[in-house]
Amino acid sequence: MTIAQRTSLQAIPAYKQGATPGEHEQAFKLSSNENPFPPLSAVTTALAAELGRINEYPNAAAPELVGMLAERFGVDPGTIALGAGSVEVAGQLIHATTNPGDEVMFAWRSFEAYPILTHVAGAVPVMVPLDAAGAHDLEAMAAAITERTSLVFICNPNNPTGTVVDSAAVDAFMAKVPARVLVVIDEAYVHFNVHGESAIGMDFFRRYPNVAVLHTFSKAYGLAGLRIGYAIAPPAVAENLRKTAVPFGVTALAQRAAVLSLENEPELQVRIDTLIEERTKLVAALREAGVELEDSHANFIWLDTGERTAAVDASLRAAGIWARAFVGEGIRISIGSEPANALIASAVIAALQESPAHV
Ligand SMILES: *Cc1c(COP(=O)(O)O)cnc(C)c1O
Repeated sequence: MTIAQRTSLQAIPAYKQGATPGEHEQAFKLSSNENPFPPLSAVTTALAAELGRINEYPNAAAPELVGMLAERFGVDPGTIALGAGSVEVAGQLIHATTNPGDEVMFAWRSFEAYPILTHVAGAVPVMVPLDAAGAHDLEAMAAAITERTSLVFICNPNNPTGTVVDSAAVDAFMAKVPARVLVVIDEAYVHFNVHGESAIGMDFFRRYPNVAVLHTFSKAYGLAGLRIGYAIAPPAVAENLRKTAVPFGVTALAQRAAVLSLENEPELQVRIDTLIEERTKLVAALREAGVELEDSHANFIWLDTGERTAAVDASLRAAGIWARAFVGEGIRISIGSEPANALIASAVIAALQESPAHV
């Protein structure tokens, strides 16, 4: 006899983590959009002291961090809801807004966690294809809204294609979205986005009563291992986010590190600027070699390798670049340290030559 389990889980893929090279391999892990810089010394020093208190539960209200965020964004503290990574908060948003069978819409391809979280919540994913340039097709998304739609994710910049939605397009989209539908702007990569026309989540939060913004400390702030992110959401939604959260999911260590990151933002900004510069250099070097790719506004690039994806990915691995391949679609490569980025350029150029496109 097998143990009775939830049948619908059979159809749900497990979240696939970016691959890690073996310990002895000379390779760069560029598959998870992690920050290549080590944690700030202010953070590691404070966490060492905090370790002496891990016998205690954290303060679930995280008053210091919530207060800082509220002040920074000029919002009521009640609009802020924390989670163990913004991926947890994304799940809470689905749990907070959907009844069984309701629809959660997002572009595809986009963040891999969206369909999984949606299925697990008992809701129905509605995946609207990206346009030919790998960008959100907001007109098609507006047209796909039904009476069952509860939530729409807009991933800006989009993971894995790095494209942005412009502000005017999101305004036009919002004009077509019923007020009962929550639109969540996932800005995991917002710090790397310097596109002048891009939609800025907080502008939309301030102007529309049915918009929430999702932020994380994992990427630009380099705290992926500590698991902390948050939503800024309409007060009634934020309250339900707190109800759907795992109690004490956000540790005191994570709260402390997040506070220190905000306090040391100038130091982090230097790193962010470096990563943006490295991205610009890498894209220019690839284009100079004849590689076609879209501008990226995040801390990764996207290669639209289509049918060649598996072959190109194998060549990259052989050259020491561990990227994130979506077979049949393309390859996402995180911007890493300077030596890693120098290797990406030469490895990609060689890999594409080894696996030429069919003409
Ligand atoms: C990395 C990422 C997140 C953040 O994940 P955390 O749980 O905060 O580490 C959220 N959304 C997108 C689109 C991402 O790529």
